[in-house]
Amino acid sequence: MTNSKYGDYRFLESVEFMFDRAVREMNLPQGLSNQIKACKSVFRIQFPVQIDGRIEVFTGWRATHSEHRLPAKGGIRYALNVNEQEVEALAALMTYKCAIVDVPFGGAKGGLIIDPQKYSSEQIEKITRRFALELAKRGFISPSRNVPAPDLGTGEREMAWIADVYRQLFSTDINHIATVTGKPVSQGGINGRIEAVGRGIQYILREFFRHPEEVKKSGLSGNIESKKIIVQGFGNVGYHTTKFLAKEDGGKIIAIIEKDGAVYNEQGLSIENVVEYFQTNQKLEGFPDATFIKDGRNALELECDILIPAATESQITSNNADRIKAPIVVEAANGPITYNADEILKEKGTVILPDVYVNAGGVTVSYFEWIKNLSHIRFGRLERRFDELKGEKIINLLESVLNVTIDDDMKKAFTDSSGAAELDLVRSGLDDTMRQAFQEIMEIMHRGEKLLDYRTAAYVLAIEKIACNYLEMGI
Ligand code: GLU
Repeated sequence: MTNSKYGDYRFLESVEFMFDRAVREMNLPQGLSNQIKACKSVFRIQFPVQIDGRIEVFTGWRATHSEHRLPAKGGIRYALNVNEQEVEALAALMTYKCAIVDVPFGGAKGGLIIDPQKYSSEQIEKITRRFALELAKRGFISPSRNVPAPDLGTGEREMAWIADVYRQLFSTDINHIATVTGKPVSQGGINGRIEAVGRGIQYILREFFRHPEEVKKSGLSGNIESKKIIVQGFGNVGYHTTKFLAKEDGGKIIAIIEKDGAVYNEQGLSIENVVEYFQTNQKLEGFPDATFIKDGRNALELECDILIPAATESQITSNNADRIKAPIVVEAANGPITYNADEILKEKGTVILPDVYVNAGGVTVSYFEWIKNLSHIRFGRLERRFDELKGEKIINLLESVLNVTIDDDMKKAFTDSSGAAELDLVRSGLDDTMRQAFQEIMEIMHRGEKLLDYRTAAYVLAIEKIACNYLEMGI
């Protein structure tokens, strides 16, 4: 039952224990909660690919945790340590995540055992196309049933190849482009998808700091400005989160942790300088203006205000939980805190904003992309100039009725913003989604006699919505 390395429950068990803990706060028929918790199906595939004249056999999975709403949705992960229980756990998190942010999808996840660094782009393309073909011909990739997206080790490039494989297989499907999200914008993707998880986290933290009574629980006050922030993982999520929090909200990023170690500077790191150094050198060691900490995990335990684990699962375990000093932990990754560690942190009074809510910005914007693909038109295309014209008419009217001249800058501010572009609409939809979910989670936290933590409340919210769906639909 336990993970031998840390003595903690393994990832899937951790998720299931978190689920059970929430169910204990509810009044659900046992059979119904069992049905919601169970992973509906896991498909495992082994397939050969010719690499440099040799045949290599690859192993991959697509787990479909729930289909109470279709399509089932979730990323495809490329990593050496992917395994079946991990893919199942990630699929379950997708189910809860979608329910929390009202994205009408079931939950799924895919994984392929591979070290993407070891292969050329052409080889990755060959492997991805074969994997996609194996999944698509069996219905595990389809705009109406199962829609993948990027995850660790995959990105826009892989999504474009997957979309192309599906299009070639099912060329008469007019919605073929909606078969995968996270595509390049030129291939039917949507503006704002790459930054989506980081942007979502920014909106969540802004919303959190709008509630002083919640902030007080952590012993902090004020807003994001000058808060000392540590991030673990400097990939897409870690980079965008820290960039937005530092540049737009005045947060101070004091440490960044990567695989080779951590960089630390009490005065705050320049995100753009770190990213430039990291991209050139593929490591953090040697970055000027910072102290290097060889064992990066130790940096999780440094004094700070907000700790953002944005790497992978099981990073905060019963081994290090009691040494975590951050009063707020924001789970940008999926499953970074084990069940055991979660209990320890809660006992200490740490405020944990949980993964199922925190990183849901990705799937939220994926939902917008899917809708855009189904409607076959870019958001804002019909009304943008119309709105702009309306703005101009109002200004002209004001000028003539009030007999004043409105200066050009003021005019521009009014007419420009009235014609919202796709990115503006995506951001506004994401902000609204995150705020709405925060309100719903808060309501559940405070509605009973016992005050719930954020994670348990978020799970209760998800389970309630899914249960309602099953009961109304009939199991
Ligand atoms: N892989 C991402 C996640 O874990 C995105 C899923 C999606 O957009 O479908 O949420």
